[in-house]
Amino acid sequence: MTVEHNTATFNEFDRLHLWHPYTSTHNPLPTYVVDHAEGAEITLADGTRLLDGMSSWWCVIHGYNHPVLNNALREQSEKMSHVMFGGFTHKPAIELGELLLEILPPSMNHIFYADSGSVATEVAMKMAVQAQNNPKHTNFATIRNGYHGDTWNAMSVCDPVTGMHGAFGPALPVRFFADAPSCRFHDEWVEHDFDSMQKIIDENADTLAAVILEPIVQGAGGMRFYHPEYLRKLRRVCDEKNIILIFDEIATGFGRTGRLFAWEHAGVEPDIMLIGKAITGGYMTFAAVATTAAIADRISSGDAGVMMHGPTFMANPLACAVALASTRLLLASPWQQRIKRIEEIMNRILPEARTLPHVRDVRVLGGIGVIEVEQYVDCGEFQQRCIKEGVWIRPFGHNVYMMPPYLAVSDEQVETIAHALVKLVKELPDA
Ligand SMILES: *Cc1c(COP(=O)(O)O)cnc(C)c1O
Repeated sequence: MTVEHNTATFNEFDRLHLWHPYTSTHNPLPTYVVDHAEGAEITLADGTRLLDGMSSWWCVIHGYNHPVLNNALREQSEKMSHVMFGGFTHKPAIELGELLLEILPPSMNHIFYADSGSVATEVAMKMAVQAQNNPKHTNFATIRNGYHGDTWNAMSVCDPVTGMHGAFGPALPVRFFADAPSCRFHDEWVEHDFDSMQKIIDENADTLAAVILEPIVQGAGGMRFYHPEYLRKLRRVCDEKNIILIFDEIATGFGRTGRLFAWEHAGVEPDIMLIGKAITGGYMTFAAVATTAAIADRISSGDAGVMMHGPTFMANPLACAVALASTRLLLASPWQQRIKRIEEIMNRILPEARTLPHVRDVRVLGGIGVIEVEQYVDCGEFQQRCIKEGVWIRPFGHNVYMMPPYLAVSDEQVETIAHALVKLVKELPDA
């Protein structure tokens, strides 16, 4: 059997029987069979080589097939791949916990290992309700354009329009949505930007358990970068009203925005913080929820007396071992320099798109470069053109963006991706 024949058969089975993210079985988006990936390059089964502009949904910070991470998994698998965390503990979980507490906000003191970002959101929301320990304080406020995952409660705090859960409308619990901050990261703070959130909190302080939001960078709900002052205001109001503040750093964590975690841009710490995505360097599904001694104490002194969550694969040793190796590798790397360099390159190339009539905005922060366009971008059609350019990009909505594996890409590779992005946007069909 030739490689081509193999690929076609595979892909036919895939098209007929496998669901991909957000696709229809009637008219699935085209898929491409990947054979292997190395560094910042993904190779398809037909031999096509693609420069990765997505870090496989923002996780693969060190690049693919990294010898250190491969080795961490191999070594751990020869000890044990999994043991239950109920009653057992192990070195990878403990060493990872020690390292995370060194790099997370100083007030963080307890860690809950979860299986994925969405599960981490569920756990954080349960923590908040348990910590309030008051049947009146059970609801949540957030900001529009947010994204917190695809499970039920996570969906309930995603943007009702861009958050991909419109189909569930009345089935979801009703949350409070403040206007998204309009004040951009690099602009001057505008006082009235906080009015909408202030109003929601003033009017609903007696029913709220927590406010949950992505600090500084709103990811899958719009790729927006907002002003740090917003978080400082929010922290103050939450303290005044005894509302728990949750930062979802699943997308922003591990260096992506130019700081190790995005809260550092504002200098205010949350009560509960979520990390995921890049935590294992993209090797395994894994996430963690960190919280303060004060919140942990409130949960443990509450009516239930225990944190009511305990997944089968909690603290999976393979995931912990590769997360530990990935985080150590990151901290030992010149990650700040790399992000800065990538930011400079994107700032030099992407603004070329600004002069195009259908481009609404170009923005860059850390290792994230976004071109926002007037028309809704057809993902399948766009990706077909990406493949011809030798790059891998997955646009969503009105956003065409790049988030390359920042510790694996060379300067030249960043330039190639950025130039391709501008070219592809230039050639977008009219709305
Ligand atoms: C991706 C993401 C999630 C969900 O994580 P999954 O691992 O896909 O469940 C939650 N919050 C933010 C900010 C994310 O970017």
